Amino acid sequence: MTPSPRAQIVDWATEIYEDLEFTVVREWLDAQPGRKAAGFLPVYAPKEVIHAAGMLPVGIHGNGAIEIIRGDAYYQSYICHLPRSVVELAESNRLDFLSAALFPSTCDVIRNLSGMWQIMFPDMYVRYMHLPQVADPVLGAQFWQRELNVIREGLGQVAGTTVGDDQLRASIGIYNEVREVIGQLYALRSKQPWKVPTEELYLLMRAGEVVAPEVFMDQARAYLAAAENSDERIKDRTRVIIVGSFCEQPPLGLIKTIERAGCYIVDDDFLAGNRFMTKAVPTAGDPAANLATTFTSSAVKTSVLYEPDPKGKKSLMQERAAAARADGIIFCAASFCDPALLDRPMLREGAEAAGIPCIAFKFAENSGQFQQFREQAGTFSDSIKLWGDAS
Ligand code: SF4
Repeated sequence: MTPSPRAQIVDWATEIYEDLEFTVVREWLDAQPGRKAAGFLPVYAPKEVIHAAGMLPVGIHGNGAIEIIRGDAYYQSYICHLPRSVVELAESNRLDFLSAALFPSTCDVIRNLSGMWQIMFPDMYVRYMHLPQVADPVLGAQFWQRELNVIREGLGQVAGTTVGDDQLRASIGIYNEVREVIGQLYALRSKQPWKVPTEELYLLMRAGEVVAPEVFMDQARAYLAAAENSDERIKDRTRVIIVGSFCEQPPLGLIKTIERAGCYIVDDDFLAGNRFMTKAVPTAGDPAANLATTFTSSAVKTSVLYEPDPKGKKSLMQERAAAARADGIIFCAASFCDPALLDRPMLREGAEAAGIPCIAFKFAENSGQFQQFREQAGTFSDSIKLWGDAS
């Protein structure tokens, strides 16, 4: 029997997710002589600038399925897993298609990784990007605009072109569309989560990190249409938000486990970079200034950006839970993830003060045992259903 169009999209995304060789990227590069790809590490990178240089933006999110042989030699044991698998991917030549790599100022681990990258690949364009971490959005925008223009010039040199304003405006327009369709998918899942299982949404988002935005949008729109028309029936599940998985990604098995334990995930911060800016970027005027201003005026509140309001972290979970009509919050961060785990006590305190039930656990991208997560998430869901408060 031929799979449904929706199943075909999920199969397509699954194949990309499981492919350690980045075949879709290699095929894109081979399709036209002279094409180049630029990688970016989590959490946020300006894909518009990469795209405007004619290059393919490729998200490097680590991989829990790869056996770590060389990656451990680069890092001490008490840090997260992501840099090990990224080094392993690089050392095994699986990332040999990259002509450039952008490392955002997410944490010290990513900073150190950018330094190692320069040692491993001395001929590659590598940029450690300082995201604007200031309380004053005007100053922050000026700073980020300058940084964007430095990256624009650097990537232009790699691509052998000048990235003009018109190219950058066109790329901004395309990524506005990408953000819009992602927003629609997330909105549908929040409203009718039984129509958009998070394991499928996640696979689709993951494919979007390595295929051209035009390809992603075709697939995402087709999936959205199929999901809207789905006759899947609602199940008796608890609506939860997943918080803390913005960088190292949980294994797919963990996402499935949480949902199958009786939860509907109605908001998350998986692959948070593609939802970092919450507004469309204006396409008229100076494009770098527009990107910078939109960033400083609409970036999501997250553990990797400075929060000037001391009460901001305490009220954030209440705001997100209200927006998603969530019954509870699952704090689910990578082991040893400094930004997520430093914020967790403040976020949890604020959530519990507002009467929102919470649980917390840690994972590694290569976690393979999910029984303890199933028990925790299942008990959490049941207790909310029975008593409305698991705390
Ligand atoms: S998982 Fe956390 S600590 Fe590790 S690289 Fe990402 S942000 Fe940094």
